[in-house]
Amino acid sequence: MLTTEHPTAQATHYPMVIGDELVATGSQDLIDPATGQAFATVAVAKTEDVNQAVIHAKQAQVSWAELTYGERSAALMKFADALEQKADLLAKLESQNAGKPLKLTQNGDIPVAIDNLRYFASVLRRQEGAAAGSYVGGYTSMLRREPIGVVAAITPWNYPLMMAVWKIGPALAAGNAIVIKPAPNTPITTIELAKVALESGLPAGLINVVTGGAEVGERLCTHPDIRMLSFTGSTQTGKRVMELASQGVKRVTIELGGKAPFVVFADADIEAAAQGAVVGAYANSGQDCTAATRFYVQNEAYDAFLKRFTELTKQIRVGHPFAPDTDIGPLASAAQLHKVHSYVEAARQQEIKVVTGGELSDQPGYFYQPTILAEAPQNASCVQEEIFGPVVVVNRFRDEAEAIASANDTKYGLAASVWTTNVQRAMRVSAAIEAGTVWVNDHLPLGSEIPHGGFKHSGIGKDLSHYALEEYTIVKHVMLDNTGVQRKPWHFTVFGEAE
Ligand code: NAD
Repeated sequence: MLTTEHPTAQATHYPMVIGDELVATGSQDLIDPATGQAFATVAVAKTEDVNQAVIHAKQAQVSWAELTYGERSAALMKFADALEQKADLLAKLESQNAGKPLKLTQNGDIPVAIDNLRYFASVLRRQEGAAAGSYVGGYTSMLRREPIGVVAAITPWNYPLMMAVWKIGPALAAGNAIVIKPAPNTPITTIELAKVALESGLPAGLINVVTGGAEVGERLCTHPDIRMLSFTGSTQTGKRVMELASQGVKRVTIELGGKAPFVVFADADIEAAAQGAVVGAYANSGQDCTAATRFYVQNEAYDAFLKRFTELTKQIRVGHPFAPDTDIGPLASAAQLHKVHSYVEAARQQEIKVVTGGELSDQPGYFYQPTILAEAPQNASCVQEEIFGPVVVVNRFRDEAEAIASANDTKYGLAASVWTTNVQRAMRVSAAIEAGTVWVNDHLPLGSEIPHGGFKHSGIGKDLSHYALEEYTIVKHVMLDNTGVQRKPWHFTVFGEAE
């Protein structure tokens, strides 16, 4: 395993961004996942910091919402350009903080996030109400889409900058202000993003970053002046966020866990499926909510697929995020490493076959070899629960009905893929699978214009696309009398007699 010098070895203290101030309250170590050593510290918000952030957001939102669509769009485009100027720095910071290979952050996370932001900056100009018609005789109805106000966003550690942009983009495009809380272990690029926003000329208070863990998250969820909670994280925390939101009748969008099935029919291109499998399973060390985790392969193709997938899995280069030949880096934290390994240990105890991997490394850092488990019972924890690491299960199926039943047999429903050369089968199976995204003959691609979001316990609402923009608006019906008639024909139903 290669090691490389870190680009930012000094112990920087990362402050919060509240209004136009950098607030350094409190301190928590940030650990480099490649070494297990602290490399920086970050502020930890107190109640007063959260309150201040909400006050700034509330003030900034009013004038931001008054801008024309064109003005708002131009300001967000400028922000995207400023982020692009810092793309290289952001990629390096993300790689160090989250353990992601530099080739992934440079070619994936950062440019994709910037494209997402540009998409929301442009699509906001296409916003319109859905109606302007006379649905009730004598009246004209208009539908307006209004901003919601102050939105709180709570994000996970697996794609820190991208998840921040998935929320900031549509929230701001729709005319809201935001207070965002990144995951406690990966706050750096969210903080840098808020600083770049100020440098690019976005008004102070439009994007505020408060840092810390569950306690800070709960303060946001219960703050009376926050009107919407936009959460991405685990299903367990998502339920808690919904529970807290219900007390303040806050709007929520929640993007939660996944356990994507990858269904390979015997008529599939097996080489394409194996190539897609290795990417779909191990991208970002498997710490991806849409990662391929449960492989169901038709009996006739099972041995050939497993053989080729195993060969490719063994070729994955696990290494330091900054080494140019690294395919996957360490897991993001010690807690995640131990969680992932505990699923493999549980599988061993259940006598599930470990085809490759499954061992803890004695290197420093949170590295884990890609691991394939095989022929596990459908009710095993490695089949049912989100492991969120480079560990997959390859199981068999007999026919289409069994494949669909197994694919749908978890509480999750975020993403899935179907591998077949039969177009009718592709249509049938993609319709029958309960998931927010179903890929046919590929696994993982996303685009700014296309929605992402789960069924079942994978969440409510959509990220990306114009559907996300709608999540951050509230529909208002405005109804105008066309007639000038003082006593309307229907008034008698409440008062007096019909005329
Ligand atoms: P997590 O639920 O532990 O934490 C997510 C965020 O919630 C963090 O910022 C955390 O500090 C905060 N939080 C924790 N407890 C809280 C509470 N009681 N109240 C308010 N906030 C609280 O999730 P994680 O481990 O950081 O992220 C991994 C999870 O995220 C996985 O389940 C993954 O599938 C999911 N995820 C989903 C999507 C999607 O689009 N559906 C995308 C990325 C990640």
